[in-house]
Amino acid sequence: MEVRVANVRKEFDRFPALHDVSLDIRSGELIALLGPSGSGKTTLLRLIAGLEMPTQGKIFFGDTDASEKTVQERNIGFVFQHYALFRHMTILENISFGLKVRPRSTRPPAGEIRRRAMELLDLVQLSGLEKRYPNQLSGGQRQRVALARALAIEPGVLLLDEPFGALDAQVRRELRKWLREIHDRTGHTTVFVTHDQEEALELSDRLCVMSQGKIEQVGSPDEVYDHPTSPFVFGFIGDSSELPVTIENGEVWVGGRAIGIPAHETPTGPARLYFRPHDVDLIEADASMAGVVTASRRVGGTRRVELEVGGASHKVEIDLPFDHPAGEKTRLSFRPKRWKLFPAA
Ligand code: ATP
Repeated sequence: MEVRVANVRKEFDRFPALHDVSLDIRSGELIALLGPSGSGKTTLLRLIAGLEMPTQGKIFFGDTDASEKTVQERNIGFVFQHYALFRHMTILENISFGLKVRPRSTRPPAGEIRRRAMELLDLVQLSGLEKRYPNQLSGGQRQRVALARALAIEPGVLLLDEPFGALDAQVRRELRKWLREIHDRTGHTTVFVTHDQEEALELSDRLCVMSQGKIEQVGSPDEVYDHPTSPFVFGFIGDSSELPVTIENGEVWVGGRAIGIPAHETPTGPARLYFRPHDVDLIEADASMAGVVTASRRVGGTRRVELEVGGASHKVEIDLPFDHPAGEKTRLSFRPKRWKLFPAA
Protein backbone atom coordinates (compact mmCIF):
# COMPACT_ATOMS: atom_id res chain seq x y z
CA MET A 1 0.00 0.00 0.00
CA GLU A 2 1.27 3.44 -0.97
CA VAL A 3 0.95 6.20 1.62
CA ARG A 4 1.02 9.88 0.79
CA VAL A 5 1.41 12.50 3.48
CA ALA A 6 0.35 15.81 1.91
CA ASN A 7 1.21 19.15 3.52
CA VAL A 8 0.50 17.96 7.03
CA ARG A 9 0.77 20.29 9.98
CA LYS A 10 0.24 19.11 13.54
CA GLU A 11 -0.09 21.36 16.55
CA PHE A 12 -0.40 20.38 20.19
CA ASP A 13 -1.90 23.32 22.11
CA ARG A 14 -0.64 25.67 19.39
CA PHE A 15 2.86 24.12 19.55
CA PRO A 16 3.75 23.03 16.00
CA ALA A 17 5.16 19.48 16.28
CA LEU A 18 5.10 19.17 12.45
CA HIS A 19 5.24 22.00 9.91
CA ASP A 20 3.86 21.37 6.42
CA VAL A 21 5.30 17.88 6.01
CA SER A 22 4.93 16.00 2.70
CA LEU A 23 6.21 12.48 2.13
CA ASP A 24 5.44 9.79 -0.46
CA ILE A 25 5.93 6.30 0.94
CA ARG A 26 6.25 3.74 -1.84
CA SER A 27 4.39 0.48 -1.84
CA GLY A 28 6.53 -2.30 -0.34
CA GLU A 29 9.43 -0.13 0.80
CA LEU A 30 10.99 0.01 4.24
CA ILE A 31 11.45 3.65 5.09
CA ALA A 32 13.08 4.92 8.27
CA LEU A 33 12.04 8.16 9.96
CA LEU A 34 15.28 9.33 11.50
CA GLY A 35 15.99 12.38 13.63
CA PRO A 36 16.92 13.61 17.07
CA SER A 37 14.55 13.52 20.00
CA GLY A 38 11.60 15.86 19.51
CA SER A 39 11.99 16.13 15.72
CA GLY A 40 8.46 14.82 15.13
CA LYS A 41 9.06 11.19 14.09
CA THR A 42 6.55 9.61 16.43
CA THR A 43 4.00 12.31 15.70
CA LEU A 44 4.26 11.57 11.97
CA LEU A 45 3.93 7.84 12.62
CA ARG A 46 0.88 8.34 14.84
CA LEU A 47 -0.74 10.54 12.19
CA ILE A 48 -0.26 7.80 9.59
CA ALA A 49 -1.75 5.29 12.04
CA GLY A 50 -4.75 7.49 12.76
CA LEU A 51 -3.86 7.77 16.45
CA GLU A 52 -3.60 11.53 15.90
CA MET A 53 -5.47 13.76 13.45
CA PRO A 54 -3.65 16.46 11.41
CA THR A 55 -4.30 20.12 12.21
CA GLN A 56 -3.95 20.73 8.45
CA GLY A 57 -3.25 18.56 5.43
CA LYS A 58 -4.24 15.08 4.38
CA ILE A 59 -3.00 11.51 4.39
CA PHE A 60 -3.80 9.16 1.50
CA PHE A 61 -3.67 5.36 1.50
CA GLY A 62 -3.45 4.53 -2.19
CA ASP A 63 -5.98 6.87 -3.80
CA THR A 64 -8.20 6.96 -0.73
CA ASP A 65 -8.22 9.95 1.59
CA ALA A 66 -7.61 8.29 4.97
CA SER A 67 -7.68 11.52 6.97
CA GLU A 68 -11.10 10.77 8.50
CA LYS A 69 -10.62 7.02 8.90
CA THR A 70 -10.10 5.26 12.22
CA VAL A 71 -7.11 3.11 13.11
CA GLN A 72 -9.10 -0.08 12.40
CA GLU A 73 -10.32 1.18 9.04
CA ARG A 74 -6.75 1.96 8.01
CA ASN A 75 -5.69 -1.66 8.59
CA ILE A 76 -2.44 -0.77 10.31
CA GLY A 77 0.02 -3.09 12.06
CA PHE A 78 1.74 -1.25 14.92
CA VAL A 79 4.74 -2.25 17.03
CA PHE A 80 5.79 -0.02 19.93
CA GLN A 81 9.06 0.28 21.79
CA HIS A 82 7.59 -1.29 24.91
CA TYR A 83 6.25 -4.62 23.91
CA ALA A 84 2.59 -4.01 24.82
CA LEU A 85 1.76 -7.72 24.68
CA PHE A 86 -1.24 -9.01 26.62
CA ARG A 87 0.32 -10.49 29.75
CA HIS A 88 -2.52 -12.87 30.57
CA MET A 89 -2.54 -14.42 27.06
CA THR A 90 -0.20 -17.06 25.67
CA ILE A 91 2.06 -16.20 22.75
CA LEU A 92 -0.32 -17.93 20.34
CA GLU A 93 -3.31 -16.04 21.77
CA ASN A 94 -1.40 -12.78 21.48
CA ILE A 95 -0.65 -13.39 17.81
CA SER A 96 -4.23 -14.48 17.07
CA PHE A 97 -5.81 -11.55 18.90
CA GLY A 98 -6.28 -9.16 15.97
CA LEU A 99 -8.08 -11.78 13.93
CA LYS A 100 -10.22 -13.09 16.80
CA VAL A 101 -11.68 -9.67 17.57
CA ARG A 102 -12.75 -9.01 13.99
CA PRO A 103 -16.46 -8.73 13.32
CA ARG A 104 -18.00 -12.09 12.48
CA SER A 105 -18.37 -11.21 8.80
CA THR A 106 -14.60 -10.78 8.24
CA ARG A 107 -13.29 -13.17 10.89
CA PRO A 108 -11.61 -16.33 9.55
CA PRO A 109 -12.74 -19.66 11.10
CA ALA A 110 -10.94 -20.69 14.32
CA GLY A 111 -8.87 -23.40 12.59
CA GLU A 112 -7.66 -20.91 9.99
CA ILE A 113 -6.72 -18.35 12.68
CA ARG A 114 -4.66 -20.98 14.47
CA ARG A 115 -2.96 -22.10 11.28
CA ARG A 116 -2.02 -18.52 10.40
CA ALA A 117 -0.75 -17.78 13.91
CA MET A 118 1.43 -20.93 13.86
CA GLU A 119 2.80 -19.90 10.47
CA LEU A 120 3.73 -16.47 11.80
CA LEU A 121 5.31 -18.01 14.88
CA ASP A 122 7.48 -19.97 12.48
CA LEU A 123 8.24 -16.85 10.44
CA VAL A 124 9.49 -15.02 13.54
CA GLN A 125 11.47 -18.12 14.56
CA LEU A 126 9.65 -18.86 17.80
CA SER A 127 8.09 -22.23 16.97
CA GLY A 128 7.60 -24.33 20.09
CA LEU A 129 6.99 -21.33 22.37
CA GLU A 130 3.30 -20.89 21.55
CA LYS A 131 2.08 -21.91 25.03
CA ARG A 132 4.39 -19.58 26.94
CA TYR A 133 3.34 -16.26 28.45
CA PRO A 134 5.12 -12.97 27.64
CA ASN A 135 6.94 -12.86 30.99
CA GLN A 136 8.58 -16.19 30.08
CA LEU A 137 10.30 -14.63 27.05
CA SER A 138 13.34 -12.40 26.60
CA GLY A 139 12.90 -8.80 25.43
CA GLY A 140 14.02 -9.69 21.92
CA GLN A 141 11.60 -12.62 21.75
CA ARG A 142 8.75 -10.41 22.94
CA GLN A 143 9.42 -7.97 20.12
CA ARG A 144 9.29 -10.85 17.65
CA VAL A 145 5.88 -11.77 19.04
CA ALA A 146 4.77 -8.14 18.78
CA LEU A 147 5.78 -8.16 15.12
CA ALA A 148 3.99 -11.46 14.46
CA ARG A 149 0.89 -10.03 16.10
CA ALA A 150 1.07 -6.91 13.94
CA LEU A 151 1.50 -9.03 10.78
CA ALA A 152 -1.39 -11.38 11.62
CA ILE A 153 -4.04 -8.96 10.40
CA GLU A 154 -2.22 -8.66 7.05
CA PRO A 155 -1.80 -4.93 7.44
CA GLY A 156 -1.70 -2.58 4.49
CA VAL A 157 1.04 -0.69 6.30
CA LEU A 158 3.33 -1.74 9.13
CA LEU A 159 4.39 1.00 11.56
CA LEU A 160 7.26 0.41 13.97
CA ASP A 161 8.11 2.95 16.68
CA GLU A 162 11.67 2.35 17.93
CA PRO A 163 10.85 -1.37 18.19
CA PHE A 164 14.35 -2.32 19.34
CA GLY A 165 14.96 0.78 21.45
CA ALA A 166 14.70 -1.03 24.78
CA LEU A 167 17.03 -3.89 23.83
CA ASP A 168 20.78 -4.18 24.29
CA ALA A 169 23.12 -3.46 21.39
CA GLN A 170 23.85 -7.07 20.44
CA VAL A 171 20.18 -8.17 20.33
CA ARG A 172 19.36 -4.97 18.50
CA ARG A 173 21.82 -5.76 15.73
CA GLU A 174 20.48 -9.30 15.35
CA LEU A 175 16.89 -8.14 15.23
CA ARG A 176 17.76 -5.51 12.64
CA LYS A 177 19.02 -8.15 10.23
CA TRP A 178 16.11 -10.36 11.07
CA LEU A 179 13.57 -7.59 10.43
CA ARG A 180 15.13 -6.86 7.05
CA GLU A 181 14.80 -10.55 6.11
CA ILE A 182 11.17 -10.69 7.23
CA HIS A 183 10.47 -7.54 5.27
CA ASP A 184 12.05 -8.98 2.14
CA ARG A 185 9.90 -12.11 2.49
CA THR A 186 6.59 -10.45 3.28
CA GLY A 187 6.98 -7.17 1.36
CA HIS A 188 4.83 -5.00 3.65
CA THR A 189 5.09 -1.25 3.26
CA THR A 190 6.93 -0.45 6.49
CA VAL A 191 7.63 2.82 8.30
CA PHE A 192 10.25 2.52 11.01
CA VAL A 193 11.03 5.23 13.57
CA THR A 194 14.52 5.39 14.99
CA HIS A 195 16.99 7.94 16.30
CA ASP A 196 19.86 5.57 15.58
CA GLN A 197 21.52 6.49 12.29
CA GLU A 198 23.41 3.22 12.02
CA GLU A 199 20.14 1.31 12.33
CA ALA A 200 18.47 3.49 9.70
CA LEU A 201 21.40 3.21 7.27
CA GLU A 202 21.60 -0.55 7.59
CA LEU A 203 17.92 -1.37 7.54
CA SER A 204 16.07 0.94 5.23
CA ASP A 205 15.47 1.30 1.51
CA ARG A 206 15.13 5.03 2.05
CA LEU A 207 15.54 7.34 4.99
CA CYS A 208 13.61 10.42 5.83
CA VAL A 209 15.75 12.68 8.01
CA MET A 210 13.76 14.96 10.28
CA SER A 211 14.65 17.96 12.41
CA GLN A 212 12.44 20.35 14.35
CA GLY A 213 9.18 19.17 12.84
CA LYS A 214 10.43 19.32 9.25
CA ILE A 215 11.80 16.88 6.72
CA GLU A 216 15.41 17.72 5.93
CA GLN A 217 16.10 15.08 3.27
CA VAL A 218 14.64 11.88 1.86
CA GLY A 219 16.77 9.39 -0.06
CA SER A 220 18.51 6.03 -0.14
CA PRO A 221 21.16 5.44 2.55
CA ASP A 222 23.88 6.06 -0.04
CA GLU A 223 22.31 9.28 -1.32
CA VAL A 224 21.86 10.68 2.15
CA TYR A 225 25.30 9.64 3.38
CA ASP A 226 27.22 10.67 0.26
CA HIS A 227 25.19 13.69 -0.76
CA PRO A 228 23.72 15.37 2.30
CA THR A 229 21.80 18.46 1.25
CA SER A 230 22.18 20.44 4.47
CA PRO A 231 24.72 20.92 7.25
CA PHE A 232 22.22 19.31 9.62
CA VAL A 233 22.09 16.08 7.61
CA PHE A 234 25.86 16.06 7.17
CA GLY A 235 26.35 16.35 10.90
CA PHE A 236 23.59 13.92 11.86
CA ILE A 237 24.39 11.05 9.48
CA GLY A 238 27.87 9.69 9.97
CA ASP A 239 30.90 11.43 11.39
CA SER A 240 31.64 14.92 10.23
CA SER A 241 34.25 17.61 10.47
CA GLU A 242 33.62 21.18 9.61
CA LEU A 243 35.76 24.24 9.11
CA PRO A 244 34.84 27.88 8.49
CA VAL A 245 36.37 28.92 5.16
CA THR A 246 36.15 31.75 2.65
CA ILE A 247 35.24 31.43 -1.01
CA GLU A 248 37.19 33.70 -3.33
CA ASN A 249 37.88 33.50 -7.07
CA GLY A 250 36.10 30.13 -7.22
CA GLU A 251 38.39 28.56 -4.62
CA VAL A 252 38.34 27.64 -0.94
CA TRP A 253 40.58 29.72 1.33
CA VAL A 254 41.63 29.01 4.92
CA GLY A 255 43.62 31.48 6.99
CA GLY A 256 44.61 33.58 3.97
CA ARG A 257 45.69 30.66 1.75
CA ALA A 258 43.95 28.87 -1.09
CA ILE A 259 43.92 25.17 -0.22
CA GLY A 260 43.45 23.61 -3.63
CA ILE A 261 39.72 22.93 -3.43
CA PRO A 262 37.60 24.36 -6.25
CA ALA A 263 34.35 26.14 -5.36
CA HIS A 264 32.82 27.41 -8.56
CA GLU A 265 29.28 26.72 -7.45
CA THR A 266 29.47 28.33 -4.03
CA PRO A 267 28.91 32.07 -3.73
CA THR A 268 31.88 34.27 -2.83
CA GLY A 269 32.12 35.00 0.89
CA PRO A 270 32.10 32.99 4.12
CA ALA A 271 31.21 29.31 3.89
CA ARG A 272 31.63 26.07 5.78
CA LEU A 273 33.61 23.12 4.52
CA TYR A 274 32.26 19.73 5.64
CA PHE A 275 33.98 16.39 5.26
CA ARG A 276 34.17 12.97 6.88
CA PRO A 277 37.11 12.54 9.28
CA HIS A 278 38.18 9.41 7.37
CA ASP A 279 38.02 11.16 4.00
CA VAL A 280 41.33 12.99 4.17
CA ASP A 281 44.76 12.64 2.60
CA LEU A 282 47.86 13.70 4.47
CA ILE A 283 50.08 15.81 2.28
CA GLU A 284 53.74 16.33 2.86
CA ALA A 285 55.55 19.63 2.61
CA ASP A 286 52.45 21.63 1.91
CA ALA A 287 51.54 24.33 4.36
CA SER A 288 48.23 25.22 2.71
CA MET A 289 46.18 23.40 5.28
CA ALA A 290 48.22 22.52 8.30
CA GLY A 291 47.06 21.88 11.81
CA VAL A 292 48.56 21.32 15.22
CA VAL A 293 47.45 18.25 17.16
CA THR A 294 45.46 19.26 20.23
CA ALA A 295 43.75 15.97 21.13
CA SER A 296 43.90 12.36 20.09
CA ARG A 297 41.69 9.41 20.93
CA ARG A 298 41.05 5.92 19.69
CA VAL A 299 37.95 5.21 17.58
CA GLY A 300 37.77 1.55 16.59
CA GLY A 301 40.81 0.74 14.47
CA THR A 302 41.92 4.34 13.91
CA ARG A 303 42.79 7.43 15.88
CA ARG A 304 40.71 10.53 15.73
CA VAL A 305 43.00 13.50 15.94
CA GLU A 306 41.84 17.01 16.67
CA LEU A 307 43.77 19.71 14.87
CA GLU A 308 43.85 23.44 15.27
CA VAL A 309 43.76 24.84 11.79
CA GLY A 310 44.22 28.11 9.96
CA GLY A 311 46.16 29.91 12.67
CA ALA A 312 42.88 30.56 14.46
CA SER A 313 41.25 28.32 17.00
CA HIS A 314 39.19 26.32 14.51
CA LYS A 315 39.25 22.66 15.27
CA VAL A 316 38.79 19.84 12.80
CA GLU A 317 38.92 16.11 13.30
CA ILE A 318 40.68 13.66 11.03
CA ASP A 319 41.31 9.92 11.31
CA LEU A 320 44.83 8.57 11.27
CA PRO A 321 46.08 5.00 11.32
CA PHE A 322 48.95 5.97 13.64
CA ASP A 323 49.22 7.80 16.91
CA HIS A 324 49.92 11.45 17.50
CA PRO A 325 49.73 12.29 21.18
CA ALA A 326 47.67 15.27 22.25
CA GLY A 327 49.74 18.40 22.66
CA GLU A 328 52.22 17.31 20.02
CA LYS A 329 53.35 20.27 18.03
CA THR A 330 53.67 18.33 14.76
CA ARG A 331 52.06 20.15 11.90
CA LEU A 332 49.99 17.82 9.79
CA SER A 333 48.93 19.01 6.38
CA PHE A 334 45.82 17.40 5.09
CA ARG A 335 43.23 17.80 2.40
CA PRO A 336 39.74 16.31 2.20
CA LYS A 337 39.26 13.84 -0.67
CA ARG A 338 35.51 14.38 -0.62
CA TRP A 339 33.81 17.40 0.80
CA LYS A 340 30.71 19.53 0.72
CA LEU A 341 30.49 23.30 0.90
CA PHE A 342 27.57 25.16 2.39
CA PRO A 343 27.29 28.94 2.47
CA ALA A 344 27.66 30.27 6.03
CA ALA A 345 24.27 30.67 7.67
P1 ATP B 1 11.55 10.99 20.42
O1 ATP B 1 12.67 10.40 19.62
O2 ATP B 1 12.04 11.63 21.67
O3 ATP B 1 10.41 10.07 20.61
P2 ATP B 1 10.19 12.33 18.23
O4 ATP B 1 11.06 12.76 17.12
O5 ATP B 1 9.42 11.09 18.04
O6 ATP B 1 11.03 12.26 19.56
P3 ATP B 1 7.66 13.53 18.80
O7 ATP B 1 7.33 12.59 19.91
O8 ATP B 1 6.94 13.38 17.54
O9 ATP B 1 9.22 13.54 18.52
O10 ATP B 1 7.44 15.01 19.36
C1 ATP B 1 7.59 16.18 18.56
C2 ATP B 1 7.29 17.39 19.41
O11 ATP B 1 5.89 17.43 19.71
C3 ATP B 1 8.01 17.40 20.73
O12 ATP B 1 8.42 18.72 21.01
C4 ATP B 1 6.96 16.93 21.72
O13 ATP B 1 7.19 17.48 22.99
C5 ATP B 1 5.67 17.45 21.11
N1 ATP B 1 4.54 16.54 21.42
C6 ATP B 1 4.39 15.29 21.00
N2 ATP B 1 3.23 14.75 21.45
C7 ATP B 1 2.64 15.71 22.18
C8 ATP B 1 1.40 15.79 22.93
N3 ATP B 1 0.55 14.76 22.97
N4 ATP B 1 1.13 16.96 23.56
C9 ATP B 1 1.96 18.01 23.49
N5 ATP B 1 3.12 18.00 22.82
C10 ATP B 1 3.48 16.89 22.17
